[in-house]
Amino acid sequence: MNSFERSIAVYQPGGLHAGDVEVMQVNTGLLCDQACRHCHLECGPDRSEVMEWPVMEQVLGAAEAIGPRLVEIAGGAPEMNPHIREFVSMLRDRGFAVRLRTNLTAMAEPGMDDLPAFLRERGVKLVASVPCHTDENICRLHMTRVLEKSIRSLQLLRKAGYTADPELQLNLVYNPGGTLFPGRQSTAQAAYRRELYSQYRLTFTRRLSITDMPPGRYRARLRQEGRDVQYAHLLRKAFNPGSLDLLSCRHQVSIGWDGVFYDCDFNLALNRTVDESVTVCLDDADLGSLSGRRIVTGDHCFGCTAGYGLSRRRTID
Ligand code: SF4
Ligand code: SF4
Repeated sequence: MNSFERSIAVYQPGGLHAGDVEVMQVNTGLLCDQACRHCHLECGPDRSEVMEWPVMEQVLGAAEAIGPRLVEIAGGAPEMNPHIREFVSMLRDRGFAVRLRTNLTAMAEPGMDDLPAFLRERGVKLVASVPCHTDENICRLHMTRVLEKSIRSLQLLRKAGYTADPELQLNLVYNPGGTLFPGRQSTAQAAYRRELYSQYRLTFTRRLSITDMPPGRYRARLRQEGRDVQYAHLLRKAFNPGSLDLLSCRHQVSIGWDGVFYDCDFNLALNRTVDESVTVCLDDADLGSLSGRRIVTGDHCFGCTAGYGLSRRRTID
């Protein structure tokens, strides 16, 4: 039993289990226009792992078999997958609610001009990462460029109609950076709303702060700086048992770019597939076994149960 399982034993005897699959998270590839130092999937412009069309067709079949309330498309930068428009269209034609996770900057790249209007027409909800102004590890010039591109994309999305229609959600996600934990969501959201509107006349639906997670580049960076043990201790100390029922893994499955199933994209980053007693990839037939499965946990799970961070938790409305 790992230390996370020991910590939750009193609240979840028998370990953490999933309910029905309400959210299918699809990782369309690790290719990204950025290479952030906190990226748990170590995505970047040099990554070649991209979901191919035949796998997307299998995902469509799995979605019809499982019937999730939401299909969430993530990356990398999903915008950079050459099949993304067709994939989104086919999901929407089959009646699935679709949410796209965007870093905003990929949408500002050449050849993406039509994307805001396309997403709006197809009724795609968005979760957009906004850069952390206080990350001391990103040089000022790079941050300025990222910020400029992000604002440009937000302006294009506003022009396309996002936030004017309450159905067209545009949620912003923010990493506090370093080893800080997110503060109370409501306080931070009000300040951010004021700032974004007064400077750029931009609005958004909700803003969520998230805790940086140990896997990937973030772990490498913490190790390099000799802070990995301290951060692991901080996460454990901030354990909030009230978060357990709301963890995203309790109601979702993540599908990797190659069609393999994971409980979440942190497990994907660590290459820990779903429990082998259930179906582990799209080629397997028994998709029903994903409901009620035992969730594969590890010390990194303390990152989901620490502080007020909410994005790891249930946000399907
Ligand atoms: S954190 Fe997001 S934007 Fe940054 S490299 Fe990873 S996928 Fe790309
Ligand atoms: S990292 Fe978080 S979402 Fe993933 S299995 Fe652990 S608790 Fe669940």
